[in-house]
Formats: sequence, structure tokens, C-alpha cells
Amino acid sequence: MRIDVLTIFPDYLAPVREALLGKAIDRGRISVGVHDLRDWTHDVHRSVDDSPYGGGPGMVMKPSVWGEALDSVCADAVEQPRLVVPTPAGVTFDQPTARRWSGEQHLVFACGRYEGIDQRVIDDAARRMPVEEVSIGDYVLVGGEVAALTMIEAVVRLLPGVLGNPASAEQDSFSDGLLEGPCYTRPETWRGLSVPEVLRSGDHAAVSRWQRDRALERTVSRRPDLIDALAPEQLDDRDRAL
Ligand code: SAM
Repeated sequence: MRIDVLTIFPDYLAPVREALLGKAIDRGRISVGVHDLRDWTHDVHRSVDDSPYGGGPGMVMKPSVWGEALDSVCADAVEQPRLVVPTPAGVTFDQPTARRWSGEQHLVFACGRYEGIDQRVIDDAARRMPVEEVSIGDYVLVGGEVAALTMIEAVVRLLPGVLGNPASAEQDSFSDGLLEGPCYTRPETWRGLSVPEVLRSGDHAAVSRWQRDRALERTVSRRPDLIDALAPEQLDDRDRAL
């Protein structure tokens, strides 16, 4: 998978070279290009923003700079890229979206700053490629870089060969529509708190049932919306009795 990120703060993306993402780059599972948007400015101040039409506070990112930058980054694309525009006004990013994008050949992230990017940049790009305006949650960040990193990490860990044990992704929260329950490691007792007996029993069926019950309890109390979204066949009789 090819990932390109356009930003006025390329250093913000340094963590893509670390840990699991860095290993994915080293192993050739992904290639990442981080581009400084100011490289496509033509004035001495390398300005990327201007005051908003209609008035109001803040500045808006200029279409001319963004247009040239996207044309240039997408020009070399082997496969048609999918453009992702992080914005609090977007559709909420979630695990199904991460899974869907993990099948893409090329993702381009356009990181906004200030009040955001002139809407015509997004409308123009949508004439040539699939575009998604996506939010990572109901709060407002100062820029799209952290949102892009969040989404890149969620997508890349789903690529084959990236996680040490692919089963982890299958058991994680959201994979079966539920939050994952609590997890424990050694020692058996720590500060007077013990690991639940069943997890030490070696009874795999009992362990699975216990994990399923805790996942259900946790989801009901923390994310009842996820329970409402489950299809009837995702619940067994014991689930319903809980
Ligand atoms: N004026 C915008 C609004 O109210 O919708 C907020 C702009 S925000 C201060 C600047 C940039 O941060 C956005 O263009 C976007 O790239 C990024 N951003 C902020 N919050 C975000 C979120 N929840 N999800 C994704 N990106 C976000």
C-alpha cells in the first residue's frame, strides 16, 4: 500500500517511521510519502491561507496551493488513489472504514489547519478520485495530522503480515461488534488483586464464554449503541440471557 500525507507540518508525521508502522515500511508492506504543502507555494512568504469569504474568525487554506499539491502527488499514482480529508465535520471514522481502506492500493491524506481547506479543493478532487471527509471523533483538533496518523495506524495494522499474530486483529474490539473484555498477565495476584480463576483453569470453552460475557457486559455499559447495531444472529441464547 502507498500512503501520501500532505501537511504544513511534515515533522508531525515522524511517528509513521516508528514501531509497527516503521516495521511495515522496512518490510515493504507500505511506502509512505510525507509532503510539505508549502513546496507548492509561489510567494516569498510561502503562504497557504487567506481570509474567509463571508467573514468570520480564522483563515482558510487556499485552493491554488492545495490543487497543485494534489495534482502533483496524484500524478505519479499507479492506482487511482482514495483521498482522505480529515475534518471534524466528516463522517465518523470506524473499524469497518479502516478494514475497507486496508484493501486500497493508495491513500492520500490532506491535513487541514486553521478553519480548514477551501471546499472547492475537495469538490474538484472528487471529479477525479474517490474522496472521503472523515472525523476521528466529536472534538476539534488544531490540525489533521494527528487524525491522519490515527487512521493510518488503524488501517496499516490490518494489512496482512503487519501484526505479529493476525489473530489479535480478529479478537480486538469491534471485530465481532463488541468491545473486548479485560485482559491479564502474570503474576496471578498483584496488590491483592487476583486474575479471575476461570482464566487459569485451562478450560478453553469456559474461558471463551467468560470472555464473551465480559465483552457483552462492557459493551452494554459503555457502548449500548454497539449492542443496538448487532444483527440478531450475532447474539446466541446465552448472550440474550445476560
Ligand atoms: N472549522 C472547522 C470546523 O469547525 O469543522 C475546524 C477546523 S480544525 C481547527 C483544523 C483542522 O484540524 C481541520 O481542517 C482538520 O484537518 C483537523 N481536525 C480537527 N478536528 C478533527 C477531527 N475531529 N477529526 C479529523 N480532523 C480534525
